Amino acid sequence: MSESPSSPTSGDPENGSRKIPAAVIKRLSLYARLLQSLEFQNITRISSAELGRRLGMNAAQVRKDLACFGQFGVPGLGYYVADLRVQLRKILRSDSEVRVILIGVGNLGSALLSYGGFLKQGFTMLWGFDVDPVAARSRVRSAIEIFSIDDLEKRLIGQQVDIAVLTVPADAAQAIATRLAALGVQAILNFTPSRLDVPKVMQVRYVDLALELENLSYYVQS
Ligand code: ATP
Repeated sequence: MSESPSSPTSGDPENGSRKIPAAVIKRLSLYARLLQSLEFQNITRISSAELGRRLGMNAAQVRKDLACFGQFGVPGLGYYVADLRVQLRKILRSDSEVRVILIGVGNLGSALLSYGGFLKQGFTMLWGFDVDPVAARSRVRSAIEIFSIDDLEKRLIGQQVDIAVLTVPADAAQAIATRLAALGVQAILNFTPSRLDVPKVMQVRYVDLALELENLSYYVQS
């Protein structure tokens, strides 16, 4: 993309932030964090209404907050996720990483753990967990440590973990999600078909690869 649609036209944080209410600055962090997780899901564009919906506020509030710093959105198109995140980070002068763990280091999980691309996008893959960490380690082509699932609490207490990726069998997912919720993990990227019952504050996104393939197969000419 050659143009930078969400670059602020007037948003000098140096001069502007003094007049910005503290509550707005707090919400900027929420926007930035949400944008990071959207990037993780390969979502490139988002409307103010959708941003607001995901954070429990309305579109007008989102637009008003961001307008404090300049003109970011494109009318009718919304915000470009990556651009807006970069701009918000500049404003906040923060470079907070998103800290991720993965649970269930089978075929899919080990492929994800072996993939180095997340780091470039600001995601730190901290650790993997599995019921059989010895077998799991042999599948992973990266230096990421794999621990026993029994040690989940021991490893996570006192640590900031933002997102847990679940690539366990479906029948193991709920029990793990409940443990993650108790540990204060904020979001789950769930690759299992199991619908998770977790507290409302927790974000859950479902990735069903078979469903996506089935959906695409509808459009494929035979
Ligand atoms: P995939 O589904 O990724 O192809 P797979 O077919 O090799 O993996 P699954 O039975 O789906 O194996 O399990 C995925 C991984 O989850 C395995 O490595 C397994 O050891 C691990 N696992 C199973 N139950 C649990 C659990 N309760 N907690 C953590 N890991 C688990």
